[in-house]
Amino acid sequence: MQTTLKTTITVNDICEGFVYNELEGKGLFGLSGKLTIQPEYQRNYIYASDGGKKEIAVIESILKGYPIGLIYFNKINEGNLEVLDGQQRITSLGRFVTDKFAVKDANGMEQYYGGMAKDKQAKILETKLTIYECEGTESEIKEWFKTINIVGVPLNNQELLNAVYSGPFVTLGKAEFSNSQNANIQKWSAYVKGSANRQEFLERAFDWVSKGNIGDYISRHRYDDNIKELKTYFNSVIDWVSSVFTDVESEMRGLEWGRLYEEYHKKAYNPAKVSAEVQMLYADPYIKNRKGIFEYILGGSIDTKLLEVRVFDEATKKTVYAEQTAKAEKKGESNCPLCTLGHDANKAKIWSLNDMDADHVSAWSKGGKGDIKNCQMLCKTHNRAKGNR
Ligand SMILES: [Zn+2]
Repeated sequence: MQTTLKTTITVNDICEGFVYNELEGKGLFGLSGKLTIQPEYQRNYIYASDGGKKEIAVIESILKGYPIGLIYFNKINEGNLEVLDGQQRITSLGRFVTDKFAVKDANGMEQYYGGMAKDKQAKILETKLTIYECEGTESEIKEWFKTINIVGVPLNNQELLNAVYSGPFVTLGKAEFSNSQNANIQKWSAYVKGSANRQEFLERAFDWVSKGNIGDYISRHRYDDNIKELKTYFNSVIDWVSSVFTDVESEMRGLEWGRLYEEYHKKAYNPAKVSAEVQMLYADPYIKNRKGIFEYILGGSIDTKLLEVRVFDEATKKTVYAEQTAKAEKKGESNCPLCTLGHDANKAKIWSLNDMDADHVSAWSKGGKGDIKNCQMLCKTHNRAKGNR
């Protein structure tokens, strides 16, 4: 790969012919059309999020004469360049000189480029940027791009995959799942964590359809011209969750719905009964892990481990242990009630407190609560064997 340092290109040159696509959230072209600002494998523009702090900082740096860092172009041929690194900063410049956002002046007043004094405008336009032009094969450039990751917000996994496997498939995927204007995003957000701009819906869609083998899947389909399977699978998962669980709870966001769909979508559920059970479990103060409620119900309300039911506190355990042990010693039998039923040496064994665990006499799932009357101490072996039935 060859690199050439350029120090004479100005903000004015870069912003010549700047186009910003609001729908895709991308800066498209600059340098009078010679420069592609956000090639396929680049992420969406994210400097405008978080109140635009980052894009404002770019302009303030320029106004103060601070450098805005190195920019890398990929030279495709004599007439065409694309931005390899620096697209967020360049898009900030382009958006500012086309009056897409304002900065604050010395008096704290909002100031758009169009309303600035001519000398300030000139200062911005005449600022020279430090740019490396790189030339190499596609794989060299991408390998390097994967390695640098030097800008303020590092690429996440999906952004890297999009870069490495750029092509029609990823482009179609992004148009569906990384488009913040897509009306379905609100519905998806009930079950999937993240934002469209950071590719998190796209990542989940790939994750679900590929059963976790995202890289393999994208590389296999890299040159496909449709995303039917990806879309259908993702929508099937979302439709399934929303039809089984008719109430939307905040704990549903970010659960492994793809795995749960694979495991349970062939079972029939009665949504009204499911909803009543969800409400009942949400109201149960003994359940520590509400996120586990959904898988617990899908699995037939058996695996109470998923709920992390609160155990008895230390004081309760000590009290019950002392009572049980005193009685057992008087009778000359084990302080584990289940050991006394056996025929081996443990029949008369007095276990220490550390060798015993608290057990719900009446299981939590059958209405047993956490008060002292429902607590008995069992040796660890018997407690494990009994489980939380
Ligand atoms: Zn025992």
